[in-house]
Amino acid sequence: MKHQKKCPGCGEWSTWYQSHEDICEHCGTLLSPEAFNRDERRAEYQAASEKKWIFYIEENDGPVLRFFKKIGNTVYLIYMAILTFIMWLIAVTPG
Ligand SMILES: [Zn+2]
Repeated sequence: MKHQKKCPGCGEWSTWYQSHEDICEHCGTLLSPEAFNRDERRAEYQAASEKKWIFYIEENDGPVLRFFKKIGNTVYLIYMAILTFIMWLIAVTPG
């Protein structure tokens, strides 16, 4: 579905695919810079919180450290899976 959006740069109407990466057909300005910035910031935030994660494997980690971090990640995933399962059990249990 095609949408039109008024360009914040030149004021012309331009085709908008509802993506934050769409640019004006006339002047090349981002059609929704707010959304674009928000997405960028979210990506930055995600990257930052990923690196704060204790089991995050860094490039200069040795093989032993990598091994333990992988185990840590696996244990965490299993733990989350069990938690999710318990939550699901509670949710489907009547009464
Ligand atoms: Zn424009």
